Amino acid sequence: MLQPSRTIDELKQLRTLTGNADGAQRVAFTDTWAAARKWFRSKLAELPVEVHQDAAGNLWATLKGASDRELLIGGHIDSVPNGGWLDGCLNLLAGLEVLRRFAEQGTPPVTIRLVDWADEEGARFGRSLFGSSAVSGSLVPDEVRNLADRDGIKLPDALKSNGIDLDHALDARSELKNAAAYLELHIEQGPVLESLNLPMGVVLGTFGVERHSIHFTGQAAHSGSTPMDKRRDALAGISRLHLAIRDLAKRHGGVCTVGRVTTLPGIVTAVVGDAEMTLDQRHLHADKLQAMYWDAVDYGEKIADEENIEVIWRKIWAIQPFPFHPELIDLGDKAIKEICGQSHRLPSGPLHDAAEICRAGVPTVMLFVQSLRGISHNKIEDTKEEHIEMSVRALDRLADKAIAWMTKQA
Ligand SMILES: [Zn+2]
Repeated sequence: MLQPSRTIDELKQLRTLTGNADGAQRVAFTDTWAAARKWFRSKLAELPVEVHQDAAGNLWATLKGASDRELLIGGHIDSVPNGGWLDGCLNLLAGLEVLRRFAEQGTPPVTIRLVDWADEEGARFGRSLFGSSAVSGSLVPDEVRNLADRDGIKLPDALKSNGIDLDHALDARSELKNAAAYLELHIEQGPVLESLNLPMGVVLGTFGVERHSIHFTGQAAHSGSTPMDKRRDALAGISRLHLAIRDLAKRHGGVCTVGRVTTLPGIVTAVVGDAEMTLDQRHLHADKLQAMYWDAVDYGEKIADEENIEVIWRKIWAIQPFPFHPELIDLGDKAIKEICGQSHRLPSGPLHDAAEICRAGVPTVMLFVQSLRGISHNKIEDTKEEHIEMSVRALDRLADKAIAWMTKQA
C-alpha cells in the first residue's frame, strides 16, 4: 500500500544524512552526493528491482513488467550548495514510494523504471542537466571537457572518480530505447500555486530562453557642462529599454528580466558613455518567444535613434521551449483533481530533466506541488507536509493512468 508519510520520513532522513545548518549539501560528484546515493541504493535493495549506473552516471532501478515498454519516473538527488530539502529528492523519493506500491502488487503490466539523474543542478561545473542531456543525446562532450570547479578540478576528472568516462557518456542514450512515457514530480519553486491557494498543478512544458547582452554606446561627457539636450547618454538606452521590456513581457504572456547593468565611466560626475545590460526572455511558445525578442530589438533601435546613441545585441545563450505531451497533461490534470479536488495548468520557468527527456521524443509530463513563499535553492525551501503527501498520491495516480494510456497506445 502506498504510504506517503514514509516519503516525508525518508526526506527527513536524507536531510539529516546530507545536510547541515546551512541546508542540503548534495552537490553532484562530491562525497556527500555519493553518500546520498549509497543511502538511496540501500532503499532500492529492499525491492525486487535491477539497479545500475549508466554511462553518464544516472542511477536506474528497473521493475520488470509484463511488457518491455517502459514507464519512467525521474528525479535528482543532487542539490545546490546550501540547498533545500525537497528540490529533486522529493521527485525521487515519491517515485520510490510508487515503485514500492507496484512491486508489492506483483508484476506490473509495463516495466517501471525510477531514475536518479546525475548532476541536474550543474552547481559545481556550471553545466545543468548533465545526465539527462547525455541520455537525450544533446550533450556535446567537447563543450564541457574544459569546465573546472572552484578548486581547479576538471569535470572529466570528477566524473572519472565517480566511474564515468566523459567520452562514453553518450552511450547512456540506449537507456531510452523502450521508454514510452516519462513522469516527474517537482516542487514549483515559484509563487503561483501558493497565490492561487492550490496544492498542485500540472506543467504545460518548460520555457524557451533567449539570453542576450545589449551594449549601448553614447558619449561620456562632463555632468556640469553638458546641457540636457546635447547629451548622448548610453544609460538612457538601458533605462528606457528596461521599462519597455516589462510591458512587452506582459503583452506576450512571457517573462523578461534585466539582471545586470554596467556603466562606464561609472562615476558620479559623468554622463554614461558605454552601458551594457543583460536580458533574459522566456516563453512557453517558440513563436511568441521570437516575437518578444524581435519587439525588444525594435524598441532598442527606436530608443537608440531617439537618444542619438548606438546599440549592439550579442547572444549569450538560447534554448527552445519544450511543450509536454497534451494527453499526458490531461491525465496529470485528472490525477491532481482526483487527489486535491482542483488543478491548475502552468508552465515551468526553470528547466528540468524532463525537458531533455521531452527533447528526446519521449511523451513527458510534470506535476508541480506548491512551494511555500515560492522560495527554492535555499535552506528555507519548504512545502506543507499535507501537500507533500498529496503529491505522492497524485504521482501514484498518474502512474496508473499513464500505464493505461501506454497500453492503449500499443
Ligand atoms: Zn530540481
